[in-house]
Amino acid sequence: MLEGAVVANQIKENVKTEVQHLSASQSIVPCLVAIRVGEDPASAVYVRNKIQACAEVGIRSEHHALPETTTTGELLELIRTLNARDDVDGILTQLPLPRHVDETLVIEEIDPRKDVDGFHPINVGRLALGRSAFVPCTPAGIIELLDYYQVPIRGADACVVGRSQIVGRPMAQLLLQRDATVTICHSRTRDLAATTRQADLLVVAIGRAGMIGAEHIKPGATVIDVGMNRLTREEEVLEMFGDAAEKRIEVLAKRGATLVGDVKPVAAMEIAGKFTPVPGGVGLLTVAMLMKNTLTAAKLRRSEN
Ligand code: NAP
Repeated sequence: MLEGAVVANQIKENVKTEVQHLSASQSIVPCLVAIRVGEDPASAVYVRNKIQACAEVGIRSEHHALPETTTTGELLELIRTLNARDDVDGILTQLPLPRHVDETLVIEEIDPRKDVDGFHPINVGRLALGRSAFVPCTPAGIIELLDYYQVPIRGADACVVGRSQIVGRPMAQLLLQRDATVTICHSRTRDLAATTRQADLLVVAIGRAGMIGAEHIKPGATVIDVGMNRLTREEEVLEMFGDAAEKRIEVLAKRGATLVGDVKPVAAMEIAGKFTPVPGGVGLLTVAMLMKNTLTAAKLRRSEN
């Protein structure tokens, strides 16, 4: 089992030490600003976790919780103000934004030097060119996890299922940069199982509970499950976990939902060599990498001044 928590804690400890050093030696305290629009409960939880992680590692944070009615223009204005502020090192807008807001314009307004989510086209382009860039936190965290557990990447047959801007595409770029032979699958892939079964390293970012089963996994492969799906019905939990469903049904009864990945846990356990659990796998790494990106942004921008 590849424990995300262990790696995430180590990343955060390293960031904390460096933040202390930066503060003592140059009186710089990195600052992250999170912008959230509307009342999406999941977004509220994600932003709260990010703000809490900032406090843990000594990064200053600001949280702008804006009403659902906020316009694209108002959001762009706020971002321009934050871009101009010298004390702000990282800016993130929690996605998804409400439908009436132009997400592309908002992302492109963020100063690429403060784009700690790595979504700005300049950073996306730099990553594609193999140059230094802010890299989206989830795939960057997965590389840290693989390195920590010494999973070989160079020369490996890697398969990424999903081609989103947030996970799939940057994941494929990072694996390519590390000399894996990379295949990208998506909803139009003709025979998904035949392709994924070739992979020594399988990264799954689909967003459909239990979509990947035994027939998709090469024996001994490393399987990284990025999916985060909430199950709310007992039948779904039984289908996902089979005989091992008891604990999850207890969670369901207590909390009304249980968090699962895109990979059937029993299949991963029986066939994969190494795999990430859900929860406890990739999720925690994302926030840890956001802290690391914010520290990097502070160091890079201040060294330019
Ligand atoms: P997304 O933007 O919805 O992308 C999903 C991808 O899966 C798309 O590329 C889609 O293909 C592909 N797909 C859909 N159905 C498929 C099928 N039947 N066979 C093969 N591919 C299929 O999702 P995302 O933002 O990448 O997120 C994916 C999952 O990761 C979600 O559960 C999300 O909650 C989770 N996530 C977790 C973290 C974390 O920190 N752990 C961070 C980000 C996301 P097309 O392009 O052809 O439509």
